[in-house]
Amino acid sequence: MPLTSQCTTSNIAKNIRQIKALLGEFRTNSQQSVDGVKLLAVSKGQSSEKLLAAWHAGINCFGENYLQEALNKIDALSSINPEWHFIGPIQANKTNKIAEHFSWVHTVDRLRIATRLNRHRQGSSGPLNICIQVNIDRESSKSGVDPDSTHELANAIIDLPHLRLRGLMVLPAPKTSFASQQDTFRRTAELFQNLKNSSPRLQSLDTLSMGTTHDMLAAIAEGATIVRIGTGIFGPRQSL
Ligand SMILES: *Cc1c(COP(=O)(O)O)cnc(C)c1O
Repeated sequence: MPLTSQCTTSNIAKNIRQIKALLGEFRTNSQQSVDGVKLLAVSKGQSSEKLLAAWHAGINCFGENYLQEALNKIDALSSINPEWHFIGPIQANKTNKIAEHFSWVHTVDRLRIATRLNRHRQGSSGPLNICIQVNIDRESSKSGVDPDSTHELANAIIDLPHLRLRGLMVLPAPKTSFASQQDTFRRTAELFQNLKNSSPRLQSLDTLSMGTTHDMLAAIAEGATIVRIGTGIFGPRQSL
């Protein structure tokens, strides 16, 4: 990867420019919008100052994994009001705050969590955007619904009025070759297409959230519509 991994403010802007250029070149799929793929800046372990630098360099959405860390930054950055995406594991007792403070949740993998998010979203300005996290390689001890159970979960979530099911998300184990990265993302894209074709109610799903710093080009080649990039934008993470 040609990405620099330093983290000064000017490097953040440079990294973002490089990634956007790469995303534009590799864009292949008609699901991907004309403006290109949505670049979600994954900001866990990064300070509010760095997020602000990314905002000034054109980033308008951030992905966070840990609720308390995220709430601190949402508060610190309230004057710019970016779009916040929750991309970490979800504990049932955190669904209230997640539904209140985020626009998107990428990591729903069971109905119990979806039902709680739906209930807590009631009365908010609009539905919460949801991606189902799929354990596409069926790795043991990994989050995500089994690929075979994805249809059932999607058909249950689509009935929840305060959620808007958008598509699927995967976070596969790191793979060394482009071909093996691509294989995983292709199977995800096939599952997504099957899901859409399985019912008119699911036809409008429009989101494939896949690809991180190390495999984003393979993800783009297979039709990702959101890539989630952390270290490639901000450099190494710290514990906050
Ligand atoms: C941390 C994280 C990323 C970003 O990974 P990088 O290698 O820093 O780009 C993307 N998605 C999820 C779900 C993550 O937890």
